[in-house]
Amino acid sequence: MLIDAASLWYRAYYALPSSIKSPEGARSGAVRGFFDGLSTLVRRFSPTELVCCLEGNWRPRWRTGLVAGYKADRAREDGSEDTPEGLDAQVAAIEALLAALGVATASHPDFEADDVIATLAARTAEPVCVVTGDRDLFQLVDDERDRTVVYLARGISKAELFDGEAVATKFGVAPEHYADFAVLRGDPSDGLPGVPGIGAKTATSLVNAYGGVNGVLAAALDESSDLPARRRRAILDAADYLDRALKVTTVVDHVEVPLIESGLPSEAADPAAVEALTAQWGIASAMRRFGEALTEARRA
Ligand code: MN
Ligand code: MN
Repeated sequence: MLIDAASLWYRAYYALPSSIKSPEGARSGAVRGFFDGLSTLVRRFSPTELVCCLEGNWRPRWRTGLVAGYKADRAREDGSEDTPEGLDAQVAAIEALLAALGVATASHPDFEADDVIATLAARTAEPVCVVTGDRDLFQLVDDERDRTVVYLARGISKAELFDGEAVATKFGVAPEHYADFAVLRGDPSDGLPGVPGIGAKTATSLVNAYGGVNGVLAAALDESSDLPARRRRAILDAADYLDRALKVTTVVDHVEVPLIESGLPSEAADPAAVEALTAQWGIASAMRRFGEALTEARRA
């Protein structure tokens, strides 16, 4: 099970009321909700291995070099991510707790969690379940290799399991064409404008008729294809964008992340630190539930 950790703590942050505070009076809903979310996932899926993948670089320069507006809406002037009030301190606590608990984490300073997840998935022949709220990762779904996505859109308890059929039902394209679809339609939350006049429906039918962005571009160049003139022009005008945006949206599956011990921890790596952080954040029951979930999953 590969967790897109930022997806999980964002969901936890917004799902729990701001009135949840640590004994010191700091907002603590994201810390508690993150570990309760992990407990729920571990109970539901009984993974044999678990890695929390971190955003080593939430907006890599190599991606903004291709599409300048990529994630621009979420960037502060200094380039850091514009995070909601009180989240940063809780993220630091979650990361410290994961290390102290002995839960594996992985990241790379030049890549997003998306890429780290794709890399770890590519390295194993075992079934892989990716937990995320990031639609880009639907491109990893693969029935033959038993790759699924648990999508957190509607919250952790309502997380939906996506296989190839579920992706095709929701978006009208096979998982290997999800990135093509997203690039043609655009993805406003990531700052990808899409192609003028092409919405979700048209993007789906173009991808299925011509086989991805490159096939669509080839059809637009081919005088004998049955594309209407106006559409042909819109696609050709967007050719440079399509080429760059596809590179931005396609996850990198060969990031240099070190090999990690990813089995479920049977005991804390640093029990004193776990105890201190648990007291500081007032999360004794969430920690107990997480410990129980790990024990049950190890027995399963
Ligand atoms: Mn992501
Ligand atoms: Mn993404």
